[in-house]
Amino acid sequence: MDTYVYKIGNNLYVNLTNRCSNRCTFCVRDEKHPFEGYDLWFKESEPTAQQVIDLIGDPAQYDEIVFCGFGEPTYRLGAMVKICDYVHEKGGKTRLNTNGHGSIINQHDITADLVGRLDGINISLNASNARLYEKLCRPIYPEMAFDSMLFFAQACREKGLNCWFSVVDCIGEEEVAACQKLADSIGIPLRVREMIR
Ligand code: SF4
Repeated sequence: MDTYVYKIGNNLYVNLTNRCSNRCTFCVRDEKHPFEGYDLWFKESEPTAQQVIDLIGDPAQYDEIVFCGFGEPTYRLGAMVKICDYVHEKGGKTRLNTNGHGSIINQHDITADLVGRLDGINISLNASNARLYEKLCRPIYPEMAFDSMLFFAQACREKGLNCWFSVVDCIGEEEVAACQKLADSIGIPLRVREMIR
């Protein structure tokens, strides 16, 4: 059976899709190797919301249920919303790790659907401008990817969602500083994370 959920520490991660709107140069999925001992590439199909709910069981036994796998979770917005509602109903917490393209992927501003459903949203900023973003993330919507990610982040913030940007340290100190400046100008915190090797 494909790996739909996987545990790291006391978090349970949900792998909803292998589709992604980026092809980041640093992405671990390119290798198609197991990640933390889990094979996250689907051989059969994406999971249904009910399959994931059955695998979660009691969400309160975990610190967080995190939507993060070998793909961009917002491709499965409908399933994610159903799973979030289940997790909250059972007293659990939810987080989304996203590239911020959910609104272009779904062709409408999805942030209203996330209100009351996600306790945290980690948006990968990755670069301080569109040119560098395109080079690093190789988006399939090159003209709009960077701006729509910023728009998504701003819309999340305006709706009072708990969101923050993240960058990987491989981009270098100067670029991290430029990302910090951009994040500050939008009023969203920035977290710098180590690159997964
Ligand atoms: S957005 Fe995430 S899943 Fe998609 S290619 Fe980049 S690092 Fe990989």
